[in-house]
Amino acid sequence: MDPFGEDPAESEPLDENERELLRQDLVDVETLKELLGPRGLKGVLFYCADCEEDHYLAWDLLRGNLQELLDAGESPIHEPAFDPDPEEYVTWDYARGFLDGYETLQDEEDDALTAQLIDELERRNWDENQIGDLLGAMGIEPPSDDEGPARR
Ligand SMILES: [Zn+2]
Repeated sequence: MDPFGEDPAESEPLDENERELLRQDLVDVETLKELLGPRGLKGVLFYCADCEEDHYLAWDLLRGNLQELLDAGESPIHEPAFDPDPEEYVTWDYARGFLDGYETLQDEEDDALTAQLIDELERRNWDENQIGDLLGAMGIEPPSDDEGPARR
């Protein structure tokens, strides 16, 4: 996703594929707001190459920008959020990771998948606390360490 339209040459109308991706992003943002909002996470931060700084986008602002991008083909995104607390924002990568894990577990919840999710997050360099938080947010008990060090 490129909410900033960073490439000035890309002022072409969106093609159907891009529009479909944007619609999916809109659905994702709704879902993320529902899932992460109650945990005190207010939105997503993006690094903006134009401004050379991070932009903090609350869920509703992000959704509005995506909608505008869908409707008008451009996004007025460079407005600073009001006094953002970096603790309350996650990267889009984090948000996507959360959503991927969440959707996987909605499909089929079992320990093997939980372990698979944890492996995947570890590959993304998530630390134990982040993973624990994520599982907690999904209402999943982290697998116990009963299997012991022999497995490692
Ligand atoms: Zn910017």
